[in-house]
Amino acid sequence: MAETFECARALILEKVSPLSAEMVPLCDVVGRVLAEAVRAPCDLPRWDNSAMDGFAVRAEDCGASQPLLIDGYIPAGSTALGIQVGPGKAVKIMTGAPTPEGCDTIVPVEETEEKDGRVLIKGRVQHGDHIRVRGEDVQQGEVVIAAGSILRPAEISMLASFGIQSVAVFRRPWVAILSTGDELVEPGEPLGPGQIVNSNAYSLAAAVKEVGGEPLLLGIALDNRESLSEKLSAGLQADVLITTAGVSMGDRDLVCEMLQETGVERLFWKVDIKPGRPTAFGLKDGKPVFSLPGNPVSTMVTFEEFVRPALLKMMGHKRVIKPFVKATLKETATKKSGRVQFLRVRVVDNGERLVASSSGDQNTGILRTMLRANGIAVLPADREQIEAGEEVDVHLIAAIDYLDADT
Ligand code: AMP
Ligand code: MG
Repeated sequence: MAETFECARALILEKVSPLSAEMVPLCDVVGRVLAEAVRAPCDLPRWDNSAMDGFAVRAEDCGASQPLLIDGYIPAGSTALGIQVGPGKAVKIMTGAPTPEGCDTIVPVEETEEKDGRVLIKGRVQHGDHIRVRGEDVQQGEVVIAAGSILRPAEISMLASFGIQSVAVFRRPWVAILSTGDELVEPGEPLGPGQIVNSNAYSLAAAVKEVGGEPLLLGIALDNRESLSEKLSAGLQADVLITTAGVSMGDRDLVCEMLQETGVERLFWKVDIKPGRPTAFGLKDGKPVFSLPGNPVSTMVTFEEFVRPALLKMMGHKRVIKPFVKATLKETATKKSGRVQFLRVRVVDNGERLVASSSGDQNTGILRTMLRANGIAVLPADREQIEAGEEVDVHLIAAIDYLDADT
């Protein structure tokens, strides 16, 4: 019995969990997920400081037309220790420098006139202006970045400003990729009669990298028990194993059988989807094993819909299923009832709404259609026809404006 698309994906996500955490230097953590909350080790800013180049003053002294006596200078990077703003006086100060005792306001240099060691305050001054107060951004002890947060440049800036050099993030999975099939040769090798190039390994390695995993190319297993057994055992050393091809009903489709012999517990084999029906999923000592169909388009689509969410979950992400965008279908699409159809589409923004049109021949053998696509429309299992003008759910696989008009 084939699984439904939703059940198959839910089963996968139920069975995979985040990997362990590791300490990673700040310069390598972008895109990673924080495993432990970070509390502020100190206030930010650490001390009151000037937000402008100007003069540190007492607001009450600024109403008079009398210039203030300049009594001191504090550039950024120096201390305000021993410097005081007394009545009728001002201290020259630069942006980021600590404010001196006695000062309650900074007057920007643009609003002053300096002459003969005195400064005339021209504009109106508001008490407290242009002072960055200690702890106004972050207070010591508070959680500034919650566990589970994705580290972007902003989070990394915050961590760095505390002087933190490395943080605990979820590990990235090592993903072993095994292509199977007697007909395969590696790129660059001579092609014998009936042979084709192992392209799946490369699209999968790229897809794994794109989500943040570490691909491990295991090469090619031939369609025989010895070759498969050896390569599958090697692949099970990784955190995740992906195989391609050999999972249909052909005489030499031995992958499922050999996985079982290797001790992989099968959780499903065949899903009510097109393309990608012969997809299988199992576990070996808790490690996920995906057996994807060999057809390059099916391989990519099933990776996108099943493997990608699993890898994201393993890396600690919470939102692992891509949200759908809604697009209006341009041409009527027909399909078989009882299975979800993944329609490769080109989504464009016509200024009013998103419109999805087929990106070409939907035959799974047509790789070109995948190149022209920036989305996969997920057509519901229970429908046989989706009319032009109806709204469909699309998983974008590239930005809407990513493709040139004449690709
Ligand atoms: P199979 O599932 O073994 O029947 O393979 C389905 C189709 O995918 C066949 O046309 C294979 O030649 C093709 N195929 C299998 N593996 C690969 C691969 N690694 N790269 C490109 N095409 C493949
Ligand atoms: Mg085959």
